[in-house]
Amino acid sequence: MMTAAANRPQALYLHVPFCRTICYYCDFCHEVYRRETAEDWLQAVRKQLAGTEIGPLKTIYIGGGTPTSLDADLLDELLGLLDPYRCAETEEYTIEINPETLTDEKAALLQRHGVNRASLGFQTADAALLQKINRHHTPQDVERAAACLRAHDIDNISLDLMYSLPGQTMASLQDSVHQALAIRPDHLSLYSLTVEPDTVFGRRGIEPLDEDTEADMYEWICRTLPAHGYEQYEISNFARPGRESRHNLVYWHYEDFTGISCGASGKEGNIRYDMPARLSAYLADPLGRDELVLAEEDMMFEMLMMGLRLKQGVSAADFKKRFDQDLHDVYGDIIDQMTARGLLVYSEGRLACTEAGFPILNSILVEFLPETENTLAPQAGE
Ligand code: SF4
Repeated sequence: MMTAAANRPQALYLHVPFCRTICYYCDFCHEVYRRETAEDWLQAVRKQLAGTEIGPLKTIYIGGGTPTSLDADLLDELLGLLDPYRCAETEEYTIEINPETLTDEKAALLQRHGVNRASLGFQTADAALLQKINRHHTPQDVERAAACLRAHDIDNISLDLMYSLPGQTMASLQDSVHQALAIRPDHLSLYSLTVEPDTVFGRRGIEPLDEDTEADMYEWICRTLPAHGYEQYEISNFARPGRESRHNLVYWHYEDFTGISCGASGKEGNIRYDMPARLSAYLADPLGRDELVLAEEDMMFEMLMMGLRLKQGVSAADFKKRFDQDLHDVYGDIIDQMTARGLLVYSEGRLACTEAGFPILNSILVEFLPETENTLAPQAGE
């Protein structure tokens, strides 16, 4: 869709569908890295970028997969493809990194191409658990990768951790969090394990921990990280002041974004689109995408679904500006019920989850689902 520059999404997500090894819980779009396939994929990315109206961009996010699984020269080529879209307004340029795939040469490339934020996979400090989920790094590798990035002036570091892993104890989680904190990250994302059917864990019938233990772990995380200076600004995300993920805030504020490569999605106004999930389909047609035209009531629901993930919740003024309708006129009855039950709170023009509501956000959202719509069921927490 051609749009005037002023209306183009100001955020871009690019998915790199390769990993050096496959984690047993993962259902993202990924393939084991092969150089020849990566070369073909780069040509497809080049074609999609050339055929897409992009920018100017405030945020760029290269995720995966494992972007740093690319050989250094191919990583250089990929970053070079995005160079024309960087501009003075580009505030945040993030890349996801698996620590064992980062070299000094690659860190230097990232610096040269303007990357200023890195999201490193830490997951757990427990060696037995790392082996169980098929991850091939240690906490020391993460520490080395963070030091290497900082030496190249990439000093906005986020760490990803997991909890509710099979066999994980509270003590193991606590040790992992403390080892992660010792790396002095600016941002932490903590996700509980969900076992999807089309994963090694799913096929082996592996299950996460029971709900009570998972809830205890979440409660400990939400209590502990703020005590160390990390504010919980989203259901699974914690940041030092000013270090919130600006790119992910685009999703949670329900703004538009461009999706590049297989496994990516995008949103432009009332159009949401998915790029092909399979690499082979993307290579065959890099501009092919599945589009869904969203009705206004679907967009209202999606804005709530994303915004209620944020601690500060959804702004009634933003809702009114976007839909020319009052939040309470549309959802007044449900908001009244949920606030009476202590699950939501409306204060200073914002609707937000209470502490009791946050852990059961999905069941709250079900109450807001449009009656005519059954394709927008909330996803499990990231
Ligand atoms: S979790 Fe990340 S590194 Fe592991 S297989 Fe999935 S995309 Fe690759």
